[in-house]
Amino acid sequence: MKNLGFYFKSFMLWELLKGLQLTGRYFFARKITVQYPEEKTPQSNRFRGLHALRRYASGEERCIACKLCEAVCPALAITIEAGPRAQDGTRRTTRYDIDLFKCIYCGFCEESCPVDAIVETRVLEYHFERRGEHIMTKDKLLAHGDKLEKQIAADREYDSRFR
Ligand code: SF4
Ligand code: SF4
Repeated sequence: MKNLGFYFKSFMLWELLKGLQLTGRYFFARKITVQYPEEKTPQSNRFRGLHALRRYASGEERCIACKLCEAVCPALAITIEAGPRAQDGTRRTTRYDIDLFKCIYCGFCEESCPVDAIVETRVLEYHFERRGEHIMTKDKLLAHGDKLEKQIAADREYDSRFR
């Protein structure tokens, strides 16, 4: 009897009909595919994208060259050289490079920074056209921070309410 049922189902292409039923259900269901880049999904305020170095409102750079971010980076992507600044003798970075080919966007650098200087922004759309452009130098990082400071500050402010 069991074999008979099996042969009957095979003859009627039962499995095929079941598959088509599933296809039909999704064919008429609401589509969930996002048409990127015209459409975008919501981003978390903790999104870890392209890095930036921040300044205080006075224009003074936040980084104090403690090198914690360099030490904690699991990908060895950060290179820092430091020394006393000529004007006031305070310790500052003379070189701050992030190799974006090495970076795994783990966020450890921003977590470790005691002055909230190095941050990862919401920027995820970027590319390189020439050799060497994957190195984010101090100048590039500071310029990026200056450009996005409003968004960065808002994200940190929002985040601090839930800590
Ligand atoms: S995000 Fe992670 S891997 Fe990238 S520079 Fe920061 S610590 Fe290193
Ligand atoms: S970015 Fe932050 S953790 Fe890294 S050297 Fe500067 S102050 Fe220290």
